Amino acid sequence: MFETTLAGSLPKPAWLAEPGKLWPQWRSSGESLARDKDDATLLWLKLQEDAGLDIVGDGEQARQHFVHGFLEAVEGIDFDNKVKMGIRNNRYDAMVPQVVGPLRLRGRVHAKEARLLRAHTARRVKFTLPGPMTIIDTIADCHYGDRVSMAMAFADLLNQEARALEADGVDIIQFDEPAFNVYMQEAAQWGIEALHRAIDGLRCTTAVHICYGYGIQANIDWKRSLGEQWRQYETVFPALAASRIDQISLECANSHVPMELLKLLGGKDVLVGVIDVASDSVETPEEVADTIGRALRYVPAARLFPCTNCGMAPMSRELAERKLEALVKGAALARERHL
Ligand code: ZN
Repeated sequence: MFETTLAGSLPKPAWLAEPGKLWPQWRSSGESLARDKDDATLLWLKLQEDAGLDIVGDGEQARQHFVHGFLEAVEGIDFDNKVKMGIRNNRYDAMVPQVVGPLRLRGRVHAKEARLLRAHTARRVKFTLPGPMTIIDTIADCHYGDRVSMAMAFADLLNQEARALEADGVDIIQFDEPAFNVYMQEAAQWGIEALHRAIDGLRCTTAVHICYGYGIQANIDWKRSLGEQWRQYETVFPALAASRIDQISLECANSHVPMELLKLLGGKDVLVGVIDVASDSVETPEEVADTIGRALRYVPAARLFPCTNCGMAPMSRELAERKLEALVKGAALARERHL
């Protein structure tokens, strides 16, 4: 009960990449970079186990960014001529690559990290991939001419990699779809259909993560503009409840999401965000257990997995370690209180 897990990313050690950045530059290149990525992946695996997490991941140590880490393995994309594009409905500008031809995977994307994790832990392993809608919102299109067809093309590539990750021994595959919180109608109309294409044929557990983003200034400003009650989830939850996705990962710590919206996810596992990634103050176990207690009114205990609100990539490493401990201690306290 109350098995703990992470939304996805963890900070990269300063010897691997520039700290504190969402798009950090690597410190080395070639074989030396490949070895450093492996070392960072193993380091975070050990730290997650020591903190007591039940379900562990690679902390996304081998990718520069959660979307472009996947795109770098895709043929048909021009990375040399990036263009400035407003993303997440123009919430902020990013320099993005362009789709210039038919999309095809060059080979495996995450075989190395997945096999490394599987070889070094007996715990359940979760692996994250960007969702199709979030991908097409983070890249410019000069080929497909239509958002939905481009999303479906990416969904097929994601499916190819997801099936291979399952064969590598990954237990849970999660698709990150922060764009579901921005294009709510489209998420229900075709976003979930694209996810179904991405999970086609999988037997492992599947998840989708929907959040209000990393703790960067543009997101903090956006959240301030959303008013007293954040009801973005309300449009997409009923469609997710009817979907074939097993688990939904959400932002609940320090958020203005009304907890009663969680009851719209009947029949699903809910990964409840109990750790705020946009704040430098470390949650107490009591605060974590309180958030779990509030979610427990709408989610059965057996389906409730305490988690982080979002990835922790831009955070300091020390802070992230302390927040992992808070997550595990808070879940333990909630077990004492409720079970
Ligand atoms: Zn997130």
